Amino acid sequence: NSFAEIDLGDALFLNIKRCKYVKPTPVQKHAIPILMAGRDLMACAQTGSGKTAAFCFPIISSVMRNHSLHQHIAPRGVRTTYPLALILSPTRELSCQIHEEAKKFSYQTGVRVAVVYGGAPIHQQLRDLERGVDILVATPGRLVDLVERARVSLQMIKYLVLDEADRMLDMGFEPQIRRIVEQVDMPHPGARQTMLFSATFPQEIQIEMLWGFVWPSWPNS
Ligand code: AMP
Repeated sequence: NSFAEIDLGDALFLNIKRCKYVKPTPVQKHAIPILMAGRDLMACAQTGSGKTAAFCFPIISSVMRNHSLHQHIAPRGVRTTYPLALILSPTRELSCQIHEEAKKFSYQTGVRVAVVYGGAPIHQQLRDLERGVDILVATPGRLVDLVERARVSLQMIKYLVLDEADRMLDMGFEPQIRRIVEQVDMPHPGARQTMLFSATFPQEIQIEMLWGFVWPSWPNS
């Protein structure tokens, strides 16, 4: 019933207090312990439910604790960025909102956050990526473009979020999401922690289409 009961780490807890989040919302109360335990999650949550913090807090907490490890492993001197966490969302507006929230809670944690989206010039986004990114928020089309240009590598992704997954499918992003998931899985299949959020409960066909490649062993698992 309180954020103090969850071991999110001091720096993150301080940011939560600074932002005056006193009590977890229902989706946070249910999702955060599952995600902190390293489990995969599919949740039905509307905008306004606090779902952004529900997936951001566990990710920031984990990245914060493994940050020196990442600094050590990430190849230096190359222009490719190797994020540890990827948050996919359907639109520029939603991506920017998630980015703002993630940035707010990453304050003084050492965790670096960036956002990339289509329909805007790529140059500023490339400069942001060059500074190094731990958590990348992205729309699917622009991310595929950046992966093809070798400016982003998904080979170190440990945390994968599909936010508003139903809307991404409705908008025709399935091929891009497939390509992205393939890239994430190439070096270490099954190593990622996957979080799927959907505002509406997806129709059966969509569930099969999406879960089939996001969770290949479903429904047997
Ligand atoms: P979201 O559903 O993630 O778009 O969040 C909706 C709004 O609720 C955002 O403005 C958040 O900053 C705010 N919010 C999220 N979690 C909490 C919380 N535990 N306490 C107070 N406000 C929150």
